Amino acid sequence: MTSEKLDGNPLEAQWSRVLDKLRGEIGEAAFQSWLKPMIVRELRDGRLRVAVPTRFMRDWTLTHYAERMERAWKAENPEVAAIEFMVQSELTGRVGTDNRVPRLPTATAVAPVRPRTATTSVDGRDSLSAPLDPRCTFGNFVVGKSNEFAYAAAKRVAEAETPTFNPFFLYGGVGLGKTHLMHAIARHIGERHPERSVVYVSAEKFMYRFIRALRERTTVDFKEHFRSVDVLLIDDVQFISGKGSTQEEFFHTFNALVDQGRQIVISADKSPSDLEGIEERLKSRLNCGLVADIHATTFELRLGILQSKAEQLAVEVPRKIMEFLAHKITGNVRELEGALNRVVAHAQLVGRDISLENTQDVLHDLLRASDRRVTIEEIQKRVSEHFNIRLHDMHSARRARSVARPRQIAMYLAKLLTIRSLPEIGRKFGGRDHTTVIHAVRKVEELKSSDASFAEDVELLRRMLEA
Ligand code: ADP
Ligand code: MG
Repeated sequence: MTSEKLDGNPLEAQWSRVLDKLRGEIGEAAFQSWLKPMIVRELRDGRLRVAVPTRFMRDWTLTHYAERMERAWKAENPEVAAIEFMVQSELTGRVGTDNRVPRLPTATAVAPVRPRTATTSVDGRDSLSAPLDPRCTFGNFVVGKSNEFAYAAAKRVAEAETPTFNPFFLYGGVGLGKTHLMHAIARHIGERHPERSVVYVSAEKFMYRFIRALRERTTVDFKEHFRSVDVLLIDDVQFISGKGSTQEEFFHTFNALVDQGRQIVISADKSPSDLEGIEERLKSRLNCGLVADIHATTFELRLGILQSKAEQLAVEVPRKIMEFLAHKITGNVRELEGALNRVVAHAQLVGRDISLENTQDVLHDLLRASDRRVTIEEIQKRVSEHFNIRLHDMHSARRARSVARPRQIAMYLAKLLTIRSLPEIGRKFGGRDHTTVIHAVRKVEELKSSDASFAEDVELLRRMLEA
């Protein structure tokens, strides 16, 4: 619970007494999730430094437990004047960081939390660059069918000694990981080559800077700055559409950098050819490197992302809940993350386990948005996914229990959730007779009343299918 360096240190004993006290106050569940993962680093000049695994946990702890912790500590050890929470991943993920207590970034228990403000040599040493989110690394990026190409290309760009794909153009819908990959590239290069100047900036910021330079008559400086970078990453380039003079400047900067063999990485919400309000010559320039797109997420990817996020939050989320969320929140990754955070925060707040019921309660607004009618095809698809059988077996004549039972459940749900008649349902299940459907419905009802876990499975499926 405390770092090795504190072995035999009175701080350790004090910490465990404080923890015991807090455990009594906030309850076991909240204790396990929020306080247990903390590591006390040191006490220096009245400031107690505590490391927590993630930024989310730090923010949560600050708003919910910081005061309580401070009180408990002061009672235990009057030397403690304030507590400083630091994010563990930001410490260990940094190059050249040994076990020293790092200088940056930290947020104290009293200071307001400002996310995405780290500035160190890696996090945008250049004043031109926006800070990089330490969570957006290649390691934290969950790869699936929809983003594997973009991921592989981004990695190649980050690892290349000289630019091979120039420019690297990354595009896709909102919240699908473009910015994440750009930060990952910038961080990777910055860590490997501290001597290189890496600038990550949003197109909006670029535009703003340029306009300011025009106003302050410092455009020469502006040009020099941007044209001397080794790697330039410009995010959301669709924002410069229609802005004539900024585009012009961007175009020249772009050409100058490419001609000097510097790497350029660009993101947008559309492919270069589909970008509106961008000059043709710029479009064709954007098209001549490597273009990679990120597609809409798949169920498997959403599930993978939820698992990874739950791990980062250090909370146990039942698999069924994750499946439910992955089925329901199909928009983008940001929404998915938001939903998980809400469910977790709610469960911690009311001190209850995460259940399907309270998940639905907490997310009712999000879930209602995905309201729609269920079809038999959808039911068959969901049920076969759930039981891990082939969709084909919904129609096949196979009678093995492993496929017959899911098929019966699908028929039951079809009866329950659609307005189709029994003969219609039968036909959709490989041309079966309506008496087979009746038999299936009875069988499922019977099993539901005799087997609680079976009933729960069916209920879960029903909830997933129902809007
Ligand atoms: P975009 O820039 O495409 O709008 P972001 O990169 O900002 O999207 O992604 C939105 C959120 O989802 C971020 O918190 C990001 O870390 C997360 N995210 C997106 N894709 C993935 C992924 N494949 N694995 C893990 N996190 C992801
Ligand atoms: Mg983005």
